[in-house]
Amino acid sequence: MHFHIITIFPDIFDSYLNESIIGRAIKSKLISVKFYNPRDYVKDNKNKTGYKPVDDKPYAGGPGMVMKAEPILKAVAKALKTIKSKKVLTINFIPNAEKFTTGLAKNVSKKYTDIILICGRYEGIDARVDKILKTKKISIGDYVLTGGEIPAMILVDCVSRQIPGVLGKYESLEEERVSTSEVYTRPEILKYKNKNYKVPKVLLSGNHKEIEEWKKSKN
Ligand code: SAM
Repeated sequence: MHFHIITIFPDIFDSYLNESIIGRAIKSKLISVKFYNPRDYVKDNKNKTGYKPVDDKPYAGGPGMVMKAEPILKAVAKALKTIKSKKVLTINFIPNAEKFTTGLAKNVSKKYTDIILICGRYEGIDARVDKILKTKKISIGDYVLTGGEIPAMILVDCVSRQIPGVLGKYESLEEERVSTSEVYTRPEILKYKNKNYKVPKVLLSGNHKEIEEWKKSKN
């Protein structure tokens, strides 16, 4: 799976993509992540803040600025040039759209070889980008963030977990087994402020059937 991220803040991704499971998946070439910065496709001079402007005032007024269509379209065109496959999905992150789920991640990981992720900033992106690129609009939850970079990281993480070999064992995918977020490790009895906190007995029983039932009851 190849991820192509359109962002004006590529450095945000650095540490996350270099660590742990995702870092290993990139090193072992199970996934790849490339960045395309819309600022690289702006001809205008740098503005007062020292950046080439990728935004402008919204038509009909309103607070905040809007990301211009052309730099994003050019960045996406650059990404498309590097893609040989036809199984390409272009995603635009917006707060009020179809919610991202593990089911969606599973589908996407099976259907596509390349995913282009457009990270909005400010008040969002000129709506014509969606029309031209026929993007799939995705929200990661009912809240508003300052940009699409965290949504993109969430998608990269969740889709990558679906790719065989990315997790230590394919079986460790949550969906392939009974799993719960109530988990324990040593010590068996945790002493905290004069109180004992014990691991549930069933987990020490070695009775797999009962353990599975206990896990199901916790979901
Ligand atoms: N005024 C915009 C609206 O109501 O849709 C909010 C823009 S938000 C400040 C800037 C960018 O952050 C959005 O263009 C989108 O890329 C991203 N974003 C913020 N919250 C998000 C969410 N819950 N899911 C996906 N993307 C989100």
